[in-house]
Amino acid sequence: MVPLTTLKNTEKQNILALSLEDLAALIRKLGWKKYRADQIIAWIYKRFVSNFEQMTDLSRSDRQGLSEAFTLSHLKIAAHQKSEDGTEKFLFALEDGKKIETVLIRSEKKRRTLCISSQAGCTLDCRFCLTAEEGLKRNLRAEEIINQFLTVQARLPESEPITNVVLMGMGEPLANLKAVTEACLRMIAPAGLSLSARRVTVSTAGLVPQMKKLLQGPVPVNLSVSLNATTNAIRNKIMPKVNRLYPLEVLMQACKQLPLPVRRSITFEYVMLEGINDSLEDAERLTHLTRGIPCKINLIPFNHYPGSPYQATPDAQILAFQNHLHRQRIRTTVRKSKGRDILAACGQLTSQFAQ
Ligand code: SF4
Repeated sequence: MVPLTTLKNTEKQNILALSLEDLAALIRKLGWKKYRADQIIAWIYKRFVSNFEQMTDLSRSDRQGLSEAFTLSHLKIAAHQKSEDGTEKFLFALEDGKKIETVLIRSEKKRRTLCISSQAGCTLDCRFCLTAEEGLKRNLRAEEIINQFLTVQARLPESEPITNVVLMGMGEPLANLKAVTEACLRMIAPAGLSLSARRVTVSTAGLVPQMKKLLQGPVPVNLSVSLNATTNAIRNKIMPKVNRLYPLEVLMQACKQLPLPVRRSITFEYVMLEGINDSLEDAERLTHLTRGIPCKINLIPFNHYPGSPYQATPDAQILAFQNHLHRQRIRTTVRKSKGRDILAACGQLTSQFAQ
């Protein structure tokens, strides 16, 4: 058997940078038995350990060999806040000092949803979103995306597994498709986090070619499209960058043709901005835009943040908007906002942690 220490001369590799297959192949190449790779993967992805010493069914020398060849650590928590409603917000400091936020949302029926970031900052410039103000700092690597899950889950008791993942934190996930796909693969792999693909949702502001690529790829996750407007004039105003690239007619035509997994639908997210996109004429246009698309509409009360030019639509108007859609037999929900008091709600994420 070749000892793992033969890798010592090269720089230590982050074991989380390896896909499950690459890790298993590397272990085999080094002459270790296959079950060793299974053990190591299980320690990382099922028992959420953050160092090799905790892998107690490996011999001392094997653990030593691993720590000489690889690094393994969870993300560094730079700040943490807990909301009155149980929502927790984590500010993680990455190795290069960039900061990202991850939010754990607790809801009824024992659902624990982790809202994960895919970029530090964001490629896009949605005008109702605090993250946009930072601009893009960089794409996250697959290991930084998956490590948000590992780090948060490791802090929770065993009786509180994270049940759902949404890639709706900082960043446009489909602008970082390769890393997002790899992270999602590890989320749904039986040897990985073994979440059902139905419990993993990737959100996009509407990058049309990447939407097709995602759904033609190996991860049958849910797709959520951040729509937010019913005319190009409004969408150009509130989501200028993406709507110039893929205007509404192009986006909706693409949604009609997407290869959705069987019995799945697209969720259209619609942030309600007072006097901008919340009239009953908007609701009526929405029924036309979404006709022929298996979908659900999720109305999101706008979460105000300091400096935002927009106001939230009053609850009564949201209800009237929802009723209009219901009358047209469109499945429509209103998202319950969580974590508003700690700026952890939708569109409120930033690397400048509010204290
Ligand atoms: S809403 Fe999403 S895509 Fe738009 S700027 Fe914010 S993080 Fe980026």
